[in-house]
Amino acid sequence: LDPNKDRFTPQDMDIERALRPLSFDDFAGQDHVLENLKIFVAAANQRGEALDHALFHGPPGLGKTTLANILANELGVGIKITSGPVLDKPGDLAGLLTNLDERDVLFIDEIHRLSPVVEEYLYSAMEDYKIDIMIESGPNARTVQINLNPFTLVGATTRSGLLTAPMRARFGIQSRLQYYNKELLATIIERSANILNVPIDLEAAIEIAGRSRGTPRIANALLRRVRDFAQIKGNGTIDTEIARYALKALNVDAHGLDEMDNKILSTIIDKFKGGPVGITTLATAVAENAETLEEVYEPFLIQEGFLMRTPRGREATDLAYKHLGRLKLGNQGE
Ligand code: ADP
Repeated sequence: LDPNKDRFTPQDMDIERALRPLSFDDFAGQDHVLENLKIFVAAANQRGEALDHALFHGPPGLGKTTLANILANELGVGIKITSGPVLDKPGDLAGLLTNLDERDVLFIDEIHRLSPVVEEYLYSAMEDYKIDIMIESGPNARTVQINLNPFTLVGATTRSGLLTAPMRARFGIQSRLQYYNKELLATIIERSANILNVPIDLEAAIEIAGRSRGTPRIANALLRRVRDFAQIKGNGTIDTEIARYALKALNVDAHGLDEMDNKILSTIIDKFKGGPVGITTLATAVAENAETLEEVYEPFLIQEGFLMRTPRGREATDLAYKHLGRLKLGNQGE
């Protein structure tokens, strides 16, 4: 299971939409982020103004898109959704911007992947709610400035390090989403099971939660697969026994680590004697880029105690050795 949403089937995407919380009250966790957002939204609502532009960053599947939708709901406005790679010309963006109603939300996923021209075009829209558009062509071509309705841009990125400084500076609200603990994920799983109409024991929910890599999207995906096992191999209810059986059959790692997580750890141990190894060297060895390692994979591995970030580089912990069933040889005389 990959937290990357592109690899999900269309059916999965439909269910994912059905499971998406619609209001602040439905959204579990990220208390600190939510507390602030509630205040900003209440204040904007009271003044009848557009909410300040908001940037959410953090690993995939933690709720950035969900929060953008919730903001629109709580503001009582519409939302238009697009993504960085899709907007390749300023014209595409102009079309979206001029169609926004007052206080609407424009959500741009993967905002770090906007092309520089589109990004620059966005600046004046964000700052003064104005854009220049080109009318006519040939010798009569000229640009005219048009006013936009005040709107809120919500940007999401997994790679905050790749966002340009001028872009980042234009977001009045910036929040980093954190991985979810087991208890929160169990709550999310119970809520989802309820929506999917499948009975589940608390203990089974906790079992699935523990293997979800701290990520609601993975928790929901696992729940759906376990539900299939409960239906075909069990009596329809998800209890601990069927959950364990299904997770084993699905080959889910006991800690919820995915293939790349395990590859990173085994590479540090097998190729670099457990580290320390520099991030660039490590990135090359696992054929991933350094930024992605730092922003998508490392935070979870560090949080769960498998990896250490030291001044000399990355080191695998004893827990990582144990997890992969490797013998730690010790740094004799090095
Ligand atoms: P991102 O945009 O960060 O990749 P999404 O917002 O698409 O993540 O979230 C993925 C799925 O996880 C959503 O469909 C939603 O059902 C679920 N989800 C995310 N955060 C929460 C949460 N705090 N509570 C309940 N479900 C959540």
